[in-house]
Amino acid sequence: MEVKLAKTAGFCYGVERAVNTVYEEIRSGQRIYTYGPIVHNDMVVEDLRKQGVGVISDLEDLKARIHAGELNNTAVIIRAHGVGQEVMDILSSAGDIRIVDATCPFVKKIHDIVKEHYAAGERIIITGTKAHPEVQGILGQIGGDAFVVENTDEAYALADDPAVRNASEEGCRFCLVSQTTFNTEKFKDIVDIFKKKLYYVTVVNTICNATQLRQKEALALSRECDAMIVIGGKHSSNTAKLYDICSKECSATYFIESLDDLNETIDQSVRCFGITAGASTPKTIIQEVLKYVRDEF
Ligand code: SF4
Repeated sequence: MEVKLAKTAGFCYGVERAVNTVYEEIRSGQRIYTYGPIVHNDMVVEDLRKQGVGVISDLEDLKARIHAGELNNTAVIIRAHGVGQEVMDILSSAGDIRIVDATCPFVKKIHDIVKEHYAAGERIIITGTKAHPEVQGILGQIGGDAFVVENTDEAYALADDPAVRNASEEGCRFCLVSQTTFNTEKFKDIVDIFKKKLYYVTVVNTICNATQLRQKEALALSRECDAMIVIGGKHSSNTAKLYDICSKECSATYFIESLDDLNETIDQSVRCFGITAGASTPKTIIQEVLKYVRDEF
């Protein structure tokens, strides 16, 4: 029996960097908090909690903890998604908090792009999910003054909005960027709409390569293998996307969070297993599953 592990399975560069930062900071001996869970993986977050790492859930929680003096002499780590300027300002003005910024450099690049184009008087359009922390962080660079579109219907609605149309006719320039994990095909369709409907649009494709490569490899593996195992947190949207891609090509696709979820319903006649994992899945879990499948099937 053959087992093929995707080369791109597991933490992407930005998540690995952020998670490593937390473990390094634990060694500093200072009380550590992360602004939001460092990664969409309950096991990692639980392991960090056991080591004393606290999680600040949102802006209100941050303000309440500062008010209660709970964050005095602590380090607060910003995760790979980044945060808006307001969060940074509150943290810096609180005085006794050391900010450790683990924002992924690719996300930081989007911050710089929107700030530059916004300062030049352009209107910013972001393709992505408005509630996603990364999009919130991008919006938070320019006081929330941007449009967010998630699909082609929303793109048509925005481009046909009389205020936007008039602004475009009067020479307003637009700058279009994307959430790093946005779907490439959807992005192209949205770009086409704005290019057709607005006069001046600068498009900067800020979709991260890591996501595209992982999805491409998952698709190829699911075509080659009799069964696919997709490992990742139940709340991880990029893992759910991998599951979608694989299950369309391979009916025996299993979505597991850890080895415990891999039950005996797997058909013993499987000749070739493919394994992939979302961007928030630690290597240890992937290796555990890999070893089990190699030894047991
Ligand atoms: S998916 Fe790309 S942009 Fe997002 S954290 Fe990972 S490396 Fe950074």
